[in-house]
Amino acid sequence: MTAVRLTGWQKPPEVTRVPVPEPGPGEVLLKVAGAGVCHSDLHVMDWPAGALPYDLPFTLGHETSGWVHTLGPGTQNTGLREGDAVLVYGPWGCGVCPACARGAENYCHRAAELRAAGGGLGLDGGMAEYMLVPSARLLVPLGDLDPRTAAPLTDAALTPYHAVKRSLHKLVPGTAAVVIGVGGLGHMAVQLLKALSPADVIAVDVASDKLDLAAGAGADHCVPAGEGDADRIRTLTGGLGATLVLDCVGADATMATAAACAAVEADITVVGLAGGTLPVTFGAVPFEAAVSIPYWGTRPELAEVVALARAGRIRPHVEVHPLGEAGEVYQRLRDGRVDGRAILVP
Ligand code: NAD
Ligand code: ZN
Ligand code: ZN
Repeated sequence: MTAVRLTGWQKPPEVTRVPVPEPGPGEVLLKVAGAGVCHSDLHVMDWPAGALPYDLPFTLGHETSGWVHTLGPGTQNTGLREGDAVLVYGPWGCGVCPACARGAENYCHRAAELRAAGGGLGLDGGMAEYMLVPSARLLVPLGDLDPRTAAPLTDAALTPYHAVKRSLHKLVPGTAAVVIGVGGLGHMAVQLLKALSPADVIAVDVASDKLDLAAGAGADHCVPAGEGDADRIRTLTGGLGATLVLDCVGADATMATAAACAAVEADITVVGLAGGTLPVTFGAVPFEAAVSIPYWGTRPELAEVVALARAGRIRPHVEVHPLGEAGEVYQRLRDGRVDGRAILVP
């Protein structure tokens, strides 16, 4: 089968042929419907050898949807049936530790020992015709949602869902939430905030087409990133600042904007991995602001995201490309030319 593989650090991925895997005991073979192209893959590719504990090569794609193709021995009584449309929950933990037991495999206590974060992140992922999923517990049923365009729910939506949910109790009427960077994650964050909170949603991006995407996703205000962006946000919030700032970039500049536009007691939540730093000291951030760096989301939260999508409350804005065009699509993402989320289909 065709697969998009990372074969060397600081190298573009290769489209190559690999054997179709056989599901062993407890495993499920998925026929892939679509694999989302996440900006994190660019960070993974760009980091030098040794930065991540992953062995090469592996198939990319940590945002995957598809149909159950073959149930391995011992999975027949899981409720899954061949042909079922499913999402793959992406962060694969040990499945047993206290974090995994509550479905928070993103925070598996044994993560360091596992030396891979999941399929597409150290183990074979979804940018292929078939994907081996190590346990039925990692599959979330899609019901009547079309798996061909559902892949972004597993990361582009789950990550901001987890990040935003922590702050919902603060987002009372009259408050504002800022989303910085309206790409794959950010355009879902805008929709999630509109679906889950009464807060005014302010989107910030360097690109005007991304601000158009934010407006289409329901943002109440759109602010071009750069000089004066935090002042604009202060004005829009009557001088108080935003109660939640979700930074989907994570660069020095965006974290500085986040601190400058946050309200007293705000949550400054950074999910972008651009490697910026934010000084946290008196005067640098508002009083009692909480800065956090959440990672991905939990299995129960992915089921909640699917419920929102099935109810029509959120919908990924996608562009679809054939698997063989992976190289060009990653370049589009690097150049900021992807509209919403790109999906590769076999
Ligand atoms: P993307 O490329 O689709 O979107 C990034 C957006 O940020 C684009 O719209 C771009 O125009 C905008 N942008 C870039 N620089 C900016 C700046 N200085 N100011 C304002 N906007 C700017 O990326 P994505 O797939 O949505 O991922 C976003 C980030 O989140 C990446 O760093 C990715 O690695 C990270 N990520 C983190 C997690 C996590 O669990 N923490 C999960 C998934 C992705
Ligand atoms: Zn990702
Ligand atoms: Zn665990």
